[in-house]
Amino acid sequence: MKILLISDIHSNSVALEAVLKDAGPVDAVWCLGDLVGYGPEPDACVDRIRALPNVLCIMGNHDAAVSGLRNIDRFNDEAEKAILVTRSIISPSSVEYLQNLPETLETETALLAHGSPRNPIWEYILDSLTAKMAFAYSKLDYIFVGHTHIPVGFFHDKKNDKMTKKLFKDKEKLHLHDQMILNPGSVGQPRDHDPRASYGIYDPEANTWQIHRVAYDIKSVQERIVKVGMPEKHATRLSDGW
Ligand code: ZN
Repeated sequence: MKILLISDIHSNSVALEAVLKDAGPVDAVWCLGDLVGYGPEPDACVDRIRALPNVLCIMGNHDAAVSGLRNIDRFNDEAEKAILVTRSIISPSSVEYLQNLPETLETETALLAHGSPRNPIWEYILDSLTAKMAFAYSKLDYIFVGHTHIPVGFFHDKKNDKMTKKLFKDKEKLHLHDQMILNPGSVGQPRDHDPRASYGIYDPEANTWQIHRVAYDIKSVQERIVKVGMPEKHATRLSDGW
């Protein structure tokens, strides 16, 4: 069984298409939020995700802000500008889709949240302490999150009550056990200094997890970001993957 985990697409449909092509046929897609913001093509990304078969999708902070469910005070100036530009180009139908996304979802084996189970829209899981606290808010042992744009995992060894943080390398396969928080990284704006789009493949039968990185035409996306009037920083950062 092959489940595709994607997050933080951020209106980058060129990266999203590269990921879907690279992943090939899958049994399900779990999308961890932030479909929009930063990039030039919000509608193309929303339309593509909502039309996928067997897709589960939750809400990210940018989805909430673009669709008017959260105010934009908590964003920095350049993120705020991207939200305002996105609002000016996105269709009412896409806004309605984003507004109706749930903040968390539970599958048979895992909980899905954009940021964390404790604060699904906003909290960043960047360190072992925050990761450990997250398990108190989930009855399931596996938690999939996005939001940080970094493909990283936090593993809780229950017997020794020890947390370990691990950055995932391209194609490295892991066997899951005990309690784990898994972040597939970002499709549309990676921030681990690898500019390639990032996604994860979860196999609940074999109990394995693998990160994949895929190159895409960054230059064409950068040109379109500038063309729609987004801050230039959102274009330049894509080449460096930060
Ligand atoms: Zn994001």
